[in-house]
Amino acid sequence: MNLVVVSNRVSRASATEPMTGGLAAALLPVVEKSGAIWVGSSGRVREGAQKEPFAEIESLGKGALALLDLPAAHYAGYYEGFANSALWPALHSRTDLIRSSHDDYKSYREVNSFMARALLRFRKPETVFWIQDYHFLALGAELRELGVTHPLGFFLHTPWPTRDIFGGVPHSRELVEAMLAYDLIGFQTDDDRDNFLSFVENDLGLDIAGGVVASKFGMSRCAVFPIGIDPAKFAAHAAKAASHPDVSRLRRSLNGEKLAIGVDRVDYSKGLINRIEAFDRMLTLQPQLKRSVSLLQIATLSRGAIEAYGDLQNQLAKLVSDVNGRHGEVDWTPIRYLNKGFSQTVLAGLYRTAQVGLVTPLHDGMNLVAKEYVAAQNPVDPGVLVLSKFAGAANELDTALMVNPHDIDGMARTIATAFSMPLVERRMRWEAMMTKLRAGTIQDWFSDFVDALQNAHAASAKASGDLAPEDPPVVWPARSFSSIVGNRFH
Ligand code: UDP
Repeated sequence: MNLVVVSNRVSRASATEPMTGGLAAALLPVVEKSGAIWVGSSGRVREGAQKEPFAEIESLGKGALALLDLPAAHYAGYYEGFANSALWPALHSRTDLIRSSHDDYKSYREVNSFMARALLRFRKPETVFWIQDYHFLALGAELRELGVTHPLGFFLHTPWPTRDIFGGVPHSRELVEAMLAYDLIGFQTDDDRDNFLSFVENDLGLDIAGGVVASKFGMSRCAVFPIGIDPAKFAAHAAKAASHPDVSRLRRSLNGEKLAIGVDRVDYSKGLINRIEAFDRMLTLQPQLKRSVSLLQIATLSRGAIEAYGDLQNQLAKLVSDVNGRHGEVDWTPIRYLNKGFSQTVLAGLYRTAQVGLVTPLHDGMNLVAKEYVAAQNPVDPGVLVLSKFAGAANELDTALMVNPHDIDGMARTIATAFSMPLVERRMRWEAMMTKLRAGTIQDWFSDFVDALQNAHAASAKASGDLAPEDPPVVWPARSFSSIVGNRFH
């Protein structure tokens, strides 16, 4: 098999650079080990029409990176526009933040179509294409338009909202119709898949049987593949990083204080304002905690060209300085607020230094930081994870201290409970979470998806009568095509 993975951003192998987000962090090790080709944006744009899209190829472990210069005329409309000002807010249930024009949508479709043309050069008879995330909802349909009959898989790293909310995205029906060109559509949680299927059934009027949708493209299977991490790697990094200067300086500076840590991109989905307000409330309600606890909030800046992100950066900086001003002492600052990123090796050491991990998003596809925090703990003296029930990770990490991030008083109390949790309880909770992390690693996610994609493609092809009888068995009952609706997607 020749696997081609596609995402907007790619990541280079580096032990010293921060990751740009969960997707890049997750894909890097699996591409390195599997020998896949990983295609994405070079981060540069190019003026004028590119007849044959240019790709710079670099090796990456056993695999390779192919970096494309995206078209300058459409980049902003695609990236800051439709992807991050229409889709991202809707996928995180913030329709109030949708800002999008028809030109943005046109640019989004242009970039999807450009990427489809660029992918043709990587097509071999045995190629399997695996497209990642909301930047490329329509890429599968564009590939099918170009005559590509290979297996096409799609995985969504974000949540999928309820149908009324997704309906707030301009061109929502067209986009979901286009998504049905994928043989397999993967989600992080059952709720995400069910919300998507509910849109397909009610808004597109298509029949669904056992998570399989029949459309003009053939059969499309919708299934759940919760993304994992490599827990052994994080544990090893955490043990080794204790001697790293950033980690040892942090330890020395604590003077016996207990530490909570938060690690997030500055994004309205991450619930940062609510978290800082809860920390503030905790210090007000339990003033005896002053000087004995503090919060290290790593907050990497992201998508600053979008107004909602710039506003949030300002609001957060003001709130943190207000809390520090009100509660701080000459020799104690409640919140250390950093806008810079760290490599995952150093991050593992920082996670292990903190007695409490705060992961309190309002909505999050999975949240890998939650899993990394757990994996980095010292087994004989593990810290406590405080986790929002709205993170995808809450399905698996169900022995974390669960919070509702909208309930500031409740969060304040829970953070205080986490700081004072006895060792026996910490270990019980941590061991149960580690068992889950070991049972669903990033390598499992990768191979489960690719296996399911090949089965889904074989089943779809068989149902359309394309395959000879000796081809692999269908994994679910083939359906009649009597209900297929001839949907247009342009
Ligand atoms: N990360 C990093 N350095 C930093 C901050 C974050 O390498 O300074 C990585 C982190 O280890 C994690 C990813 O970025 O793997 C963030 O993923 P998550 O799923 O938590 O959130 P996303 O940013 O994808 O919404």
